Amino acid sequence: TIGMLAIDSNGDIAGACTTSGLAYKMAGRVGDSPIIGSGLFIDNEIGGAVATGLGEEVLKTVGSFLIVELMRQGRSPQEACVEAIGRIVNKKASNYKDFQVGYIAINKQGEVGYYSIHSGFSMTQFQDGKNENLAADYFNK
Ligand code: ASP
Repeated sequence: TIGMLAIDSNGDIAGACTTSGLAYKMAGRVGDSPIIGSGLFIDNEIGGAVATGLGEEVLKTVGSFLIVELMRQGRSPQEACVEAIGRIVNKKASNYKDFQVGYIAINKQGEVGYYSIHSGFSMTQFQDGKNENLAADYFNK
């Protein structure tokens, strides 16, 4: 999945995601990317979030909606992404060592967050004419 979040000079937020789906997926599987609230969610009054990785885990936690709601309650985008990954890895029966999930988020102030379970998740921030590559993950926190 490639997820994108953007904020303009008026503070208006937009987002999109595209997916190749998963390899060897079941016929008819939809995944999280086209499901608003799971793969992508924007509330222009609060912020936005987008997911990549094993869609079943994102769907079970309604991850992007969760991140926006956490930001609504006052969490920073980074804190919200960490919490959403925590909801997945801290489940008793989670086999998170075997799959990846990553999130990016932005709030109305233009602050960003990014977090994944494993390394290998790459996030690029474009601001003031410059690209910056950023990464943070559960295993290397
Ligand atoms: N999130 C996608 C899915 O589960 C996979 C991906 O990241 O491309 O369908």
